[in-house]
Amino acid sequence: MTNTGTTTKATTGAEGSATAGSPNTPVEVRNPASGELAGTVVFASREEVAADVAALRAAQPAWEAIGPRGRKEWLLKLQDWVVDNAEELADTIQAESGKTRIDARVEVAFTVDQLGYWARNAAKFLAEQHPAPHTPLMRVKRLATVYKPYAVVGIITPWNFPLGMGIADVVPALAAGAAVMHKPSEVTPLTPLVLARGWAEIGAPPVLSVVSGAGETGAAVIENVDYVQFTGSVPTGRRIGVKCAEQMTPYSLELGGKDPAIVLSDADLDRAAYGIAYGALVNTGQLCISIERVYVEAPVYDEFLAKLVAHVKELRQGRDDRSNSFDLGPLANQAQLDIVTRHVEEAVAAGAKVLTGGKAFGPGTFFEPTVLVDVDHTMSCIVEETFGPTIPVMKVADEAEAIRLANDSIFGLSASVWTGNRSRGQRVARLINAGAVNINDSVINLFNPSIPHGGWGQSGTGYRWGGASGLRKYCRVQAITAPSM
Ligand code: ADP
Repeated sequence: MTNTGTTTKATTGAEGSATAGSPNTPVEVRNPASGELAGTVVFASREEVAADVAALRAAQPAWEAIGPRGRKEWLLKLQDWVVDNAEELADTIQAESGKTRIDARVEVAFTVDQLGYWARNAAKFLAEQHPAPHTPLMRVKRLATVYKPYAVVGIITPWNFPLGMGIADVVPALAAGAAVMHKPSEVTPLTPLVLARGWAEIGAPPVLSVVSGAGETGAAVIENVDYVQFTGSVPTGRRIGVKCAEQMTPYSLELGGKDPAIVLSDADLDRAAYGIAYGALVNTGQLCISIERVYVEAPVYDEFLAKLVAHVKELRQGRDDRSNSFDLGPLANQAQLDIVTRHVEEAVAAGAKVLTGGKAFGPGTFFEPTVLVDVDHTMSCIVEETFGPTIPVMKVADEAEAIRLANDSIFGLSASVWTGNRSRGQRVARLINAGAVNINDSVINLFNPSIPHGGWGQSGTGYRWGGASGLRKYCRVQAITAPSM
């Protein structure tokens, strides 16, 4: 672990003073539900990032050399550490994001699951392949495809899952044999530092570094690493892609989404209402693959809406701490609350109706879970990513209109189709422009690391999360040929 020195230290509010020895001012991290101080961090300078990457580069060959089975042992040790320290991790997630206990626990459970999956599958995914040579005229008798990790992978993540967002990329990169420089969002920098402490405490090789900082620190990471994986907004992703292209640094981008749900008239409406409410409101809607718009066939529109609204009204929202008493928390910051408020206000001003919710409330950055109807594709709530607890619902004449509207978006991250007819679900899924389509389910592609989903269109490029391609994106492919004599 290279989380030594000023670049990676953070102090919690309870522990008191900020990191010493840095010319930079400590930056406060506050709980958006309560305003309480969660901790402070010191942003890493460009020089500190460069020094950390140099240390990672020096440590990486030994990490690669121990092979996937050697790395498996360390990843499983970290898994044990996460289980033993689950409460501290959940506390830190809540302290810096304000999210509910259940959402924080989901992140910890997700982390445990990810560590096990990548530890156990890396050897299989990295195994050399031996394709048959195509033509006997070339004297190649033996062909090997070798997956060789990049030395240092830079991972830049947003704030919606302080632990999980990093884990989804850090763990496969480590399992591939790369060293990792992780720069989490400056809004939620504390939990990744707890995990980095865990990596040090189990005595693992120093191939993981977590730096705190904002865009400038992220830019320094990009300048020094060999591969960049970015998760975040479209404008920032585009800037990062341009920078990587200028440097010839390979990269992948996982960006925004505006996931549609299509409810067909033969759907189980209870299941659809419950699943869509969950898919739209989990993590208070702050999830790139959350459902952000719903298209319902006319014959079942009223009945579906009644069920959806009844279900949403039952949800409890508030500041949770450890009580496990709430389903929704606040938005993670004021900027996000402003976007959600704007989308709802603009929709209402243009003629939309609020069936439940519709208002911000405090103290803290809360916005009620909101069902909107009489919306259309001229409105920001249907076109732009909202990333909040809103469910805009449109009535459509038939399946064809639903598919046309679902595809009328710059995004293509994921989608869902709700139907009682299996083959219809399979057929409609194939007509939707999205990297993942869930039939009679929502956000399931978040929880299953064997699913190789990644965004289409403005939702990203080059990214495949799960399965073999999720691991191999952190590797260069080398073809080795040998002649017959
Ligand atoms: P959000 O977190 O609101 O989605 P961004 O997409 O801008 O917003 O941020 C995602 C991550 O990208 C954060 O860790 C942020 O610090 C980082 N970041 C922002 N600007 C840059 C940049 N120019 N270069 C590298 N990283 C950046």
